[in-house]
Amino acid sequence: MSEGLITAAYIIAAILFIASLNGLSSQETAQKGNIYGIIGMTLAIVATIGAMINAGNAGAWTYSLVAILMIIGAGIGIRLATKVEMTSMPELIAILHSFVGLAATIIGFNSYLDHDLLFGAAKTIHNVEVFLGVFIGAVTFTGSLVAFGKLSGKINSSALALPGKNWINIIAIASSAILLIGFISGGWGLTALILMALIALAFGWHLVASIGGADMPVVVSMLNSYSGWAAAATGFMLSNDLLIIIGALVGSSGAILSYIMCKAMNRSFVSVILGGFGNEVFADTGDKDYGTHYETNAQEVADALAAAKNIVIVPGYGMAVAQAQYPVAELTKRLRAKGKNVRFGIHPVAGRLPGHMNVLLAEAKVPYDIVLEMDEVNDDLSDTDVVLVIGANDTVNPAANEPGTPISGMPVLSVWEASKVIVFKRSMGVGYAGVQNPLFFKDNTEMLLGDAKDSVTQILANI
Ligand code: NDP
Repeated sequence: MSEGLITAAYIIAAILFIASLNGLSSQETAQKGNIYGIIGMTLAIVATIGAMINAGNAGAWTYSLVAILMIIGAGIGIRLATKVEMTSMPELIAILHSFVGLAATIIGFNSYLDHDLLFGAAKTIHNVEVFLGVFIGAVTFTGSLVAFGKLSGKINSSALALPGKNWINIIAIASSAILLIGFISGGWGLTALILMALIALAFGWHLVASIGGADMPVVVSMLNSYSGWAAAATGFMLSNDLLIIIGALVGSSGAILSYIMCKAMNRSFVSVILGGFGNEVFADTGDKDYGTHYETNAQEVADALAAAKNIVIVPGYGMAVAQAQYPVAELTKRLRAKGKNVRFGIHPVAGRLPGHMNVLLAEAKVPYDIVLEMDEVNDDLSDTDVVLVIGANDTVNPAANEPGTPISGMPVLSVWEASKVIVFKRSMGVGYAGVQNPLFFKDNTEMLLGDAKDSVTQILANI
């Protein structure tokens, strides 16, 4: 493969990745975006193998090894992609980010050990690239592992509050900076790199462990961003322009998404990326008396819907667990056919990944124009006859408007302003952030307890 062809392939792949990101920014074009991404990545892999052949420094054994590893990787990827449930997607993304971090760390060490023939400024620049690559990679690796544990429920999702946690972070960064000076000035060599890697591994773990349940959406997109910067740093080490471009695209889009999420959740961006810097940690003692709740049934809900004109449906994580989007779409269709104004109100962090609810509703063919964002629907809730809260909890919790809870300050859908609220869930249990929901005990709230899919199906039978 000629040098010119490889450069052209890299440029086309980079353009395809930009087009892919652009496509993924809206539901109508998301499929096209995915296709651009697949073509771009295929082109990138072919061109990289072409560059490897051109360099001529690899034997037949290396090519066979690359082929074997690619087949194993693709096999695992296909199996995961076809098996994973939509609700497990965030933890899958977190574990994939950890692979990027681990790869950047290993490549960093390899690159350091492989470039001992460099001198002067070239050596200093390369050493800085190696140091940053290993640092970001190691932070991403352990941070993503903790995020995986929290999202999959394998470890407690509440914020870890070690005494002097901010000082721990500051000391980790300061000692890494000192090690960097020792590393590039030449004296401390591999020892400095190993010591920094150990500090960065502990730092990444502590950073994400210190962030509480409700702030996890920001962590997921923040780790996405870190993994991009880790890839970009690897690109510098390997002098691979395409990897630098892709890394920068992922890094900056992840950072922008984190920023948007922070704004949506009314959180400080700096505080979240520094592991909850300055946040107080609250404990719900669980001994507060919220009063009594009213339990309804499918027939009563069907009657309430028959009498209503304006209906808003607020889906949450429970709709995804129950896979209730199909009966919900059918219910929407039937109610609209009866001339009712049915709309959906989507909270920016509903479910377990950005856009989770939009994807499920699109999959069930709910028309896009009735799926509204929280800000578009919140002001209309006081004029709404019935709100159906389907498997949502934290995102409709009025406790967010009070101080002293892990979700305090997060904007929520003020569903309690509607004439009637019907909450579909299986028990009176708490949501992801572990905070009890006073909505369930309000006079205009009725609880329809049971699996959301079964409940909606029963309502359909009564309509
Ligand atoms: P929550 O996770 O707060 O609550 C979901 C509710 O669904 C639970 O209370 C549960 O109650 C109910 N549920 C579970 N299974 C079923 C079922 N089969 N049928 C009916 N109900 C069911 O949901 P929200 O979407 O309101 O909030 C999302 C939370 O997740 C926020 O705290 C957010 O910060 C966090 N998060 C969001 C991410 C994102 O990017 N969107 C990423 C990571 C975390 P019960 O068990 O009683 O049925």
